[in-house]
Amino acid sequence: GPKDYQFMLRLKQPAGELPPDLYRLIDDLSAKHGQGDLRMTTRQCFQIHGILKGDLKTVISSIMNIGSSTVGACGDVSRNVMTTPAPFASPAYEHAREYSKVFAHLFRPMTPAFSEIWLDGEKAATVETWAREVEGFDVDAKMLHDNGRGIILPDSVEPIYGTQYLPRKFKIGVTVPGDNSIDIYTNDIGVVVVCDEVTGELQGFNVMVGGGMGRTHNKEDTFARAADHMGYVPKDDIIEVLKAIVAAQRDHGNRDVRANARMKYLVHTLGIDKFKRLVESYVGQEIAPWRPIAEWKYNDWMGWWDQGDGKLFYGQHVDNGRVKDEGNFRLKSALRTLVDKYNVHSILSPTQSIIFRDVDPKDKDGIESILREHGIAPLEEVDPIARLSMACPALPLCGLAQTEAERIMPSYVERMRALLDRMNLPGEEILMRMTGCPNGCARPYMAELAFVGDGPRSYQLWLGGSPVLTRTAYPYMAKMDVDALESTMEPILAMFIERRTEYEAFGDFCHRVGAEAIEKYCSTYVPG
Ligand code: SF4
Repeated sequence: GPKDYQFMLRLKQPAGELPPDLYRLIDDLSAKHGQGDLRMTTRQCFQIHGILKGDLKTVISSIMNIGSSTVGACGDVSRNVMTTPAPFASPAYEHAREYSKVFAHLFRPMTPAFSEIWLDGEKAATVETWAREVEGFDVDAKMLHDNGRGIILPDSVEPIYGTQYLPRKFKIGVTVPGDNSIDIYTNDIGVVVVCDEVTGELQGFNVMVGGGMGRTHNKEDTFARAADHMGYVPKDDIIEVLKAIVAAQRDHGNRDVRANARMKYLVHTLGIDKFKRLVESYVGQEIAPWRPIAEWKYNDWMGWWDQGDGKLFYGQHVDNGRVKDEGNFRLKSALRTLVDKYNVHSILSPTQSIIFRDVDPKDKDGIESILREHGIAPLEEVDPIARLSMACPALPLCGLAQTEAERIMPSYVERMRALLDRMNLPGEEILMRMTGCPNGCARPYMAELAFVGDGPRSYQLWLGGSPVLTRTAYPYMAKMDVDALESTMEPILAMFIERRTEYEAFGDFCHRVGAEAIEKYCSTYVPG
């Protein structure tokens, strides 16, 4: 059908950054060559759906012209490097942004060839954009440094990836202690900047490895996994250690079974201690133990914040990342008006929303009135459950989707709200996620409550993730009919009300009591 000739174009935006001229271009291109809207992804980049094959070249070359960008295949290489989107002017936040770009540059594919590939069942292409160049780092020299232990393949066009690339896609995330806005435990490599508490000077990094979401229904040997803490690396060694981790996966990852090719399976099979020793064998020295850091919190960084340098930043919540105009709700026009009027620099957030940085405090009222004029509700009016929720695109856009996600999530938010109100839990905040298949693009397995599509109008129910996104949930029930949300959740919530400890979060409760106890309670529950 005609869909065969349509492409999805995904931008690669390290640290999620998008300067105003690039924003304007993407906005224009989506109107002229795409299906009219924009989709923000869970890895902080824009996607344009519905580009006709004949238009693809025009679209890509105009992005390349404006963004001094390079085009890289989006196959089995490092994907968009994620970073906390909060543009605070503190040393730790600045280092996180800086190093996320260093890592993106380090692991960019060197081959300039552009390839059309099938991704998520849809023809897709990636354009890499560079919001700001990496300054003060001789990344290329460090990358090409050959320590004789086989990290670098000197004879290959791709000195890190080699001729066969990696067994599977590879994800890296960078943040600061305490800020888990990026779901850091879902990455192949998660990096946490460690600064001197007094001077703010960068000392090194805590490094975790082996996270990943994708799994397949009824295949026990595929599973979602939260990363393990590997250790602490002084700042001068970080590039060598990251290269060593990627080389370990390149040389030892599973290339025979694609379903088990992500690095999480290598870390799982070896165990974290052996995996760490494998990495040490490439580096040629021991890796120090993980340093104690602040407890993780989850924050979506929406609303107004003081940036710390006299400027403000503003996070605009976007339901499921869809930037569109529809009736009185004219988000796409609103964002474009803001970019045009204030020339603001934007950052896409890991929860599919957008942040405008470096806002002059005197522009705050003007920005608010533009949003109100375009029918965008103020943040106080957005249901906290909607703010916490995420859904992947699924039907009709994704070829792997087994059922709906983005299109029914708003109704699920409403239904959960009604149920919580009815059960006298109006202030309860539950982090809810939904995907149309087990691939897990919206990171459902970390949520307190998740719905994973397992057939037409049917979901697998997952419980027990943490409200600060540090562990995976467990599957509680298969084949929940889309209409059975209330009848399924009511007994579970009743048990929660009866047996929670004070202030215990829903996900923590489900984790503590476990699936068996919940099942038992529900089997004897009499609706009140
Ligand atoms: Fe498609 Fe959603 Fe499955 Fe990802 S999780 S492959 S977007 S249906």
